[in-house]
Amino acid sequence: DKARAELMAAIAGWQNQDARHHLHPFTDPALMDQVPPFIIDSAAGMYVGGQGVRLLDAMGGLGCVNIGYGRPDMADIAADTIRTLSYYHCFSAASNPYAAELAARIAALAPGALNHVFFANSGSEANETLLKMIRLYWSRKGQPERRAIISRDYSYHGSTMATTVLNGQQAMIAPFGLSPADMDVHHVMAPFWYRHGGDLNAEQFADQAIAAVAGKIDALGPETVAAVFAEPVQATAGVIIPPDAYLPRLAELCRMHGILLVADEVVCGFGRTGAWFAQETFGFEADMMTLAKGLSSAYAPISAAVVSDAVLDVIKGTEREVFQHGFTTSAHPVMAALALKNIDILAQEDLVKRTRDSIGPYFASKLKELENRPLVGEVRATGLMAGVEIAKNKTTREQYLLDMAVCDKVSQACLMRGVIVRPVGNAIVICPPLIIQRGEVDYIVRAMGEALEEVSGQLD
Ligand code: PLP
Repeated sequence: DKARAELMAAIAGWQNQDARHHLHPFTDPALMDQVPPFIIDSAAGMYVGGQGVRLLDAMGGLGCVNIGYGRPDMADIAADTIRTLSYYHCFSAASNPYAAELAARIAALAPGALNHVFFANSGSEANETLLKMIRLYWSRKGQPERRAIISRDYSYHGSTMATTVLNGQQAMIAPFGLSPADMDVHHVMAPFWYRHGGDLNAEQFADQAIAAVAGKIDALGPETVAAVFAEPVQATAGVIIPPDAYLPRLAELCRMHGILLVADEVVCGFGRTGAWFAQETFGFEADMMTLAKGLSSAYAPISAAVVSDAVLDVIKGTEREVFQHGFTTSAHPVMAALALKNIDILAQEDLVKRTRDSIGPYFASKLKELENRPLVGEVRATGLMAGVEIAKNKTTREQYLLDMAVCDKVSQACLMRGVIVRPVGNAIVICPPLIIQRGEVDYIVRAMGEALEEVSGQLD
């Protein structure tokens, strides 16, 4: 009919404009000439819509849409705040009610002494902010030789020049002629039991992974190590969940050497693991943490770098000196208002607790059933985040060559069943909005099961 023809013509127009002019994040630009972009033009609740179809978004965007899409209460807050205070900066002594309230709210929710909040626009900028604060901290403490940063294999911390070298994936670093060593960044083994645990049990593997960090600290000399960066659960690498003992022992090791521990809670924060912060779930406290994604459920580009009382005391120092760092839109009132409302919704609708007590355990137990399907080596889940590890041989844990794009094929087969999941390396990641219902979990698991059978049949 006419409306449909008009829609199709509009889509073709956007695809044409996009292919000619829009450079996409983490995408092969040459691909954009060959594959027309999929235009998503609407979203509500658990679903996104585009090109005449509605898809169940089991990835919540990029693991960020914790309260679900398109909420009228969020739209109202954006409109009201724009009418009241569309913008003013927070440089020097200026502030706004939303930023002040949000900083206090984050401090109240955050573990331990993490009480001081710097606002930025993305997770990358929050981590970048901490890299600079860490330099400042050690220089003010009179130990400027502490510059080495320890990060972990498979990690993802951002896309700015400095955060890029924190990443534990060479493919993200090498194309830019960067080298972690240039920035005094050193990688250690990740607590990735399925890939590196061999025959060890969880406890023995935690010992091994901690020994790797301790060994690196010793090799570098503890007096040169400034900080350790760690995502509590390594999301982008396929949801690597550490053995129980690992994170508390990592915190203890850092404390022993006076090394700052950074918890990158960009994905884990705001309920994803069934607590406000994964530090609670895994029983440790960091000196610094970064937040983004679930902070606003991606209704706004806003992130936060949070530091402890003790860290701030040192950074304040004794002499007057400006923190030479900040962004025009740091603590933007509209973004802060949206984050505040997002936190209200998470609290009022009990979305964090239900992730821990009811829907999270259901999600994990249903997804675990996929281990009986072909191609599945392991299912890892905590709260509402899961990684389905694809294996060529379930017993030997042999992997398919990445060139075979098995995970892409499985996720495509899911898409054909109306479900969005995310292929990363040898795993498929599922991070749905925290508003997910049991029926939607069942639907995702059914689609995944069928997709796995279909792709396995093709591979035979
Ligand atoms: N840290 C972690 C753990 C992430 O997963 C991401 C993004 O996926 C980032 C940092 C970077 O955040 P952004 O994409 O907002 O810069």
